[in-house]
Amino acid sequence: MLDLQLLIRQNTDKLARSITEEQGKTFPDAKGDVFRGLQVVENACNIPSSFMGEQLEVATDMDTFTVRQPLGVTAGICPFNFPAMIPLWMFPLSIAAGNTMIIKPSERDPGAMMLLAELAAEAGVPKGVLNVVHGSVDTVNFICDNEHIKAISFVGSDAAGKYIHARGSANGKRVQANLGAKNHGVILPDANKNHALNQLTGAAFGAAGQRCMALSTTVFVGEAQEWLPELAERAKKLKVTGGFEPDADLGPLISPQAKERVEGLIQSGVDQGAELVLDGRNPTVPEKYKNGNFVGPTILANVKTHMECYKQEIFGPVLVCLSVDTLDEAIELINKNPYGNGTAIFTNSGSNARYFNQNIDVGQVGAVNTPIPVPLPMFSFTGSRGSIQGDVYFYGKSGLQFYTQTKTITSLWRREDVASSRAAVNMPTMR
Ligand code: NAD
Repeated sequence: MLDLQLLIRQNTDKLARSITEEQGKTFPDAKGDVFRGLQVVENACNIPSSFMGEQLEVATDMDTFTVRQPLGVTAGICPFNFPAMIPLWMFPLSIAAGNTMIIKPSERDPGAMMLLAELAAEAGVPKGVLNVVHGSVDTVNFICDNEHIKAISFVGSDAAGKYIHARGSANGKRVQANLGAKNHGVILPDANKNHALNQLTGAAFGAAGQRCMALSTTVFVGEAQEWLPELAERAKKLKVTGGFEPDADLGPLISPQAKERVEGLIQSGVDQGAELVLDGRNPTVPEKYKNGNFVGPTILANVKTHMECYKQEIFGPVLVCLSVDTLDEAIELINKNPYGNGTAIFTNSGSNARYFNQNIDVGQVGAVNTPIPVPLPMFSFTGSRGSIQGDVYFYGKSGLQFYTQTKTITSLWRREDVASSRAAVNMPTMR
């Protein structure tokens, strides 16, 4: 793992180039994709201390201790949007825990995982320990049904995740599945306006909105809604172009189908009565990119919860804005949304932030003033309600638990001279 983390550091640009080429996100953003995965490798370097079991003298002559043991063959099924980070959520911890792993990268951008596999081999990961398989539904079905595979980590959309969770679980495997999201950013009028608007703009439109932690929904509380025109001004200034261009803020969407779907959801917002404050459809891009799947920053205001643009995860650079009068109403709105992946609150009031922390039912909470609060790998990436199936989270202590079986061992150290001469038939109750 130490060698692997060094090799990833040395090859960050190469990995990031592959991501920008295949996935489309900007080159600096692609480096962030690699770096956030690298942190999990660094954490896996420290596995012996996390691996330690527990021990207790449960009676004067009896000890109980636990050991963690690997499961055997594990598998990972990955989405397109973080071609390095998500595989790195999976294989370093699984193989450091003593398992082998079969990774299926997204068929839409498998290049970064292929480079990571080469680096793992160079770092000394033995042949057969880390394996990459390609494909889509047939490959997934093979993973769900194969009797040797004991556990599946999945990250991706609701439909695929629910299917894989059901099929893998029915075959007796452990399955952890992180699914879709609709992340709300709450803006209170006492927030630092400049900070809040900049953070919100970055978190809504960065990576062209193709992040599971994108802040794709804004909830303005009270007078904060007066900041909407300024938000639109900042969004309008973002540059839409190819990901290798030095001034690029947003690259293209992953496919023509994704572009069409996002444009359709923008139109559905308009048709259902939302106000199109900023229309990013058909943005101006350099001639050489004219066939790209570009959508620019788009803002829909006066959005209501029955609208399709609110109900669906858009997964594009589209920010939907709602307004409420109080923080309690904002919390109620968020907790009623089917998803519970991430959220953030912008305020200068510590007590409001704490109240939000306590009452919000979402896995990753940016409280306070923190967009995209993806936890560092000594913690775990969690999720609540519709954003997760299974109950053991990715990386951190929880991730290690997912990839290991705990064995509990009890020993009776009764000396011969005090041992009973009769067989005991009752349930043992040691003192
Ligand atoms: P996707 O579900 O289309 O693909 C994910 C994986 O599932 C791929 O490897 C794909 O080959 C496979 N797959 C796709 N359809 C399948 C089917 N019908 N049957 C079996 N397997 C299938 O997801 P995506 O579009 O690549 O990724 C975007 C989604 O991932 C978004 O919804 C996003 O929110 C989510 N995501 C969630 C998290 C999280 O931690 N909650 C992180 C990143 C992305």
